[in-house]
Amino acid sequence: MRSAASFRRSMSTISSSMSIKHGISLWCPQSPSLNRQNSGVVYSRTRSLHRRNFVVSASSSFANENREFVIVGGGNAAGYAARTFVEHGMADGKLCIVSKEAYAPYERPALTKGYLFPLDKKPARLPGFHTCVGSGGERQTPDWYKEKGIEMIYEDPVTTIDAKNQTLTTNSGKILKYGALIVATGCTASRFPEKIGGNLHGVHYIRDVADADSLISSLGKAQKVVIVGGGYIGMEVAAATVAWNLDTTVIFPENHLLPRLFTPSLAQKYEELYQQNGVKLIKGASIKSLESGPDGNVTGVKLENGSTIEADLVVIGIGAKPAVGPFEKAVTLNSTVGGIEVDGLFRSNVPGVFAIGDVAAFPLKMYDRITRVEHVDHARGSAQHCVKALLTAQTHNYDYLPYFYSRVFEYEGSSRKVWWQFFGDNVGEAIQIGNFDPKIATFWLDSGKLKGVLLESGSPEEFQLLPKLARELLYREKGRVYYGIVFILREVRMCNM
Ligand SMILES: Cc1cc2nc3c(=O)[nH]c(=O)nc-3n(C[C@H](O)[C@H](O)[C@H](O)COP(=O)(O)OP(=O)(O)OC[C@H]3O[C@@H](n4cnc5c(N)ncnc54)[C@H](O)[C@@H]3O)c2cc1C
Repeated sequence: MRSAASFRRSMSTISSSMSIKHGISLWCPQSPSLNRQNSGVVYSRTRSLHRRNFVVSASSSFANENREFVIVGGGNAAGYAARTFVEHGMADGKLCIVSKEAYAPYERPALTKGYLFPLDKKPARLPGFHTCVGSGGERQTPDWYKEKGIEMIYEDPVTTIDAKNQTLTTNSGKILKYGALIVATGCTASRFPEKIGGNLHGVHYIRDVADADSLISSLGKAQKVVIVGGGYIGMEVAAATVAWNLDTTVIFPENHLLPRLFTPSLAQKYEELYQQNGVKLIKGASIKSLESGPDGNVTGVKLENGSTIEADLVVIGIGAKPAVGPFEKAVTLNSTVGGIEVDGLFRSNVPGVFAIGDVAAFPLKMYDRITRVEHVDHARGSAQHCVKALLTAQTHNYDYLPYFYSRVFEYEGSSRKVWWQFFGDNVGEAIQIGNFDPKIATFWLDSGKLKGVLLESGSPEEFQLLPKLARELLYREKGRVYYGIVFILREVRMCNM
């Protein structure tokens, strides 16, 4: 970690030979039959020297209630996809969403933020956070879907797909024919094995409203909470449980919080804040088992070092896995990052089958690699890009600038709110500027190129500006990185240079 002064000195000597390479999509599935005519959707392909157009035009030849477009999964991405279908006049009577949950799509990040506020501090509840309110859009309640003529099938997950005959079967035995299928099944929370107590009463995982409701009903009775995992979920749940005045301990194997993103020095600032709020942190610890009493309720968390941390409520936040279950034999999965492999237009290797959101392994153009992103901004962006590519002549590949954020301690009466946003890639050398009072920024530089930027406690206007500045910066030509960083710092009123 360098000081701001040494940063300024070294930035001025950044090699003029550096170059910012525009990413090239590494992988593009061959879709030889994309120009064939499916039963309900006609794909027409026109070739020119520089581009290929895949245009989908709807037809109404379905025997099965005109279900031309089916989205499997009723989460974040599905909500934004539905909005895009409506914007193109292609929802009414043509679109069906099949969901495992009992609710219309909602902004999932709320579940570990406003949803977990103590009951006397105005917690968020549905219908308040249906998509697309998270991006300032319309609140799409169940009535919205009815008005738009979108068929919603709730609490009836898809169990199998027959890609050859373009049909899906749901848990209740419904058979749905589709012309084009968008898989938006997201992820499922990783669980501890049953044999080490992963299913004990009082052990919670959090992925959907039902999980959050179950957690809230337990919080009202709990005294000692142990949270396993120091990532997003762990940090957000811990911030909530101390607001409920519960004895809270976070246990994680790494040396600091949010190790996938934060530098040790940045993490230290957040750790101090958590500790000031009464959260105990146990770092570098591995879990041996979850212990229970004669009534089957969890009583504690046993560590590999032999010690046991008492708990009557345990929340596990150890990551998530792409929910590919019904599709794993039908489409190509990515063996490195998991999920359904798609190209820059979200097409899988099976004609007419697309994947978006957390479950999609897509080419990250900017960094020339295939990745999966489990963040809401990508769920929104991939949904919009996929549906536009499906319904219009749009052929340009998705060009995503990774963006993550978190907001905690935002309940009424909190002495310090936390809201950070990150853009780009956290690779290379990190430079930290600011003192967390309340702002702090971290810049990541690799081979003389700016790769990522994180800002804590920007104003809403500053945060609005950040993606634009970051995108410009990350694509900037050689030698301009220093000026770009200074420009960002000026814009967020952190420097007088
Ligand atoms: C608690 C929590 C907090 C989060 N906080 C943040 C945050 O602060 N910032 C951020 O950027 N991101 C956050 N995320 C991540 C973000 O919510 C996800 O990236 C986003 O929801 C992904 O959208 P999706 O539509 O791909 O998946 P989801 O929103 O998970 O939706 C998938 C839906 O598909 C359903 N489904 C699964 N299988 C089937 C099936 N076979 N048939 C029918 N339906 C099925 C699921 O039940 C679910 O309703 C958070 C996630 C969680 C769980």
